[in-house]
Amino acid sequence: MQRFPLYIAGQFRDAAGGEWFETENPYTLEPWAQIARGGPADVDAAVAAARTAFESGWGRSKPAYRAGLLRALADRLEQAAGELAQIETRDNGKLIAETGGQARYLPSWYRYYAGLAENLEGRVIPIDKPDVTVYTRPEPLGVIAAITPWNSPLMLATWKLAPALAAGNTVVLKPSEFTSASSIALARIFDEVGFPPGVLNVVTGFGAEVGVPLVAHPKVAKVAFTGGESGGRGVYKAAAERLIPATLELGGKSPNIVFADADLDQAVKGVIAGIFAATGQTCLAGSRVLVEDSIHDAFVERLVAFAGRAKLGDPADLATQVGPVTTRPQYEKILSYIEIARAEGARCVLGGGPAPHPAGGKGLFVQPTIFADVTNDMRIAREEVFGPVMSVLRFGDQDEAIRIANDSDYGLAAGVWTQNLRRALEMSDALAAGTVWVNTYRAVSYLAPFGGYKASGIGRENGAEALAAYMFHPGSSYSSVSVPAAAGARGVPGAGRGRESG
Ligand code: NAD
Repeated sequence: MQRFPLYIAGQFRDAAGGEWFETENPYTLEPWAQIARGGPADVDAAVAAARTAFESGWGRSKPAYRAGLLRALADRLEQAAGELAQIETRDNGKLIAETGGQARYLPSWYRYYAGLAENLEGRVIPIDKPDVTVYTRPEPLGVIAAITPWNSPLMLATWKLAPALAAGNTVVLKPSEFTSASSIALARIFDEVGFPPGVLNVVTGFGAEVGVPLVAHPKVAKVAFTGGESGGRGVYKAAAERLIPATLELGGKSPNIVFADADLDQAVKGVIAGIFAATGQTCLAGSRVLVEDSIHDAFVERLVAFAGRAKLGDPADLATQVGPVTTRPQYEKILSYIEIARAEGARCVLGGGPAPHPAGGKGLFVQPTIFADVTNDMRIAREEVFGPVMSVLRFGDQDEAIRIANDSDYGLAAGVWTQNLRRALEMSDALAAGTVWVNTYRAVSYLAPFGGYKASGIGRENGAEALAAYMFHPGSSYSSVSVPAAAGARGVPGAGRGRESG
């Protein structure tokens, strides 16, 4: 069985406690690799290595130097995309079509932030004091704790690593205990490319044993966390205790809103892909589908017909449309929500239970499930299921759609299906969501800021905003230097140095 050790100070090493844990392939439920079980001593070593790397040069290095390494990393990642996608699919069960797409897209993040970092500039400020030159300089924060969940480990790590490193920070990455392998595979590529030891460190292990001591560590300058609400609250409290910033990317209950004036063929496909792709295990799943009254029944029929044909199977097979659930706790959670929905009076029109393994194996599958007659006060409409379960709600007009959509504790994303341009713009304006898609769904880019309103999180990843979030902004430097005024400047009010104050 393959082993994935820790990566600290440029060394691949066993955990201090010498322990390993197994990671399973969700399709077969067979263990396929062993992961080093890090603990507080490993966190100490990783943070110390990151701090040393920061102080001994990386933190003061020229952006062009860091950009060169990030571009070399991007080139190498391009070659490794197929291999990384296979590891990801084997470890978390996401469809290879999706992990492949994500892996091929990762280099764009490193190239984009390499360029942005090279364009970081300060300002010279002509302040009101004589003989004083003031300039500002963007400065990195120090050691960043990056914590990722199990659903898209490489992509969500990259959203943190690329801007953090480009800005001159060093990083300790802690991936989810369920899907750690790809982060160590990524560290191998950093190592090959020649990043200085300690610039990236990866400590695998459990939330309580690695995540908690990492966030509480006195030398960590910022936490970038993607995960569930309860972990997010814990991280935010710990960051507050230490007065350090935290970016939180949390869950969602995103509305996908279909108006009668939509291109309905396009809307059916978009709505289905919005929830059943990734088996619903994505933060931006369009899990609340709001359908206008006049088309409601016909549209639900089409959803049922379309989703009913979904091909469940091996996520490593390109023809598979719905893969397994990644973990047993997640599987049990999904089934419990299906029961809750039934008990609340929602009408199950498709699926509604476990699905047999398509090849008679042990992996855990849930039928693509659709509930109709859902009202927005039901738990199935308010709480994140993180599985292939769609709730369909009706609305009468645009105002009601907005009211239902925004009546949520979450605000990560929203979809709107309409061919009416005015409506599209009004909806984009009115929806309380970090991202609004019109006639498309689940598109993200390194160029556009991404993040949530309300319980979906704090701060933004991607785009120029993410680079700013990894820097002190700006550091002002006051230098008092007496320079004799130029002859021509004498007597010109405001032009000479020190003339005004005599
Ligand atoms: P999780 O919160 O259980 O774990 C996320 C990570 O945090 C893991 O590495 C875990 O070990 C660690 N962790 C947990 N508690 C911690 C604590 N108190 N201190 C420090 N570290 C801690 O989340 P999960 O189940 O792995 O992921 C699913 C969740 O992630 C869903 O809610 C989903 O919506 C969310 N998510 C959000 C986004 C986004 O960008 N908004 C993207 C993907 C997933």
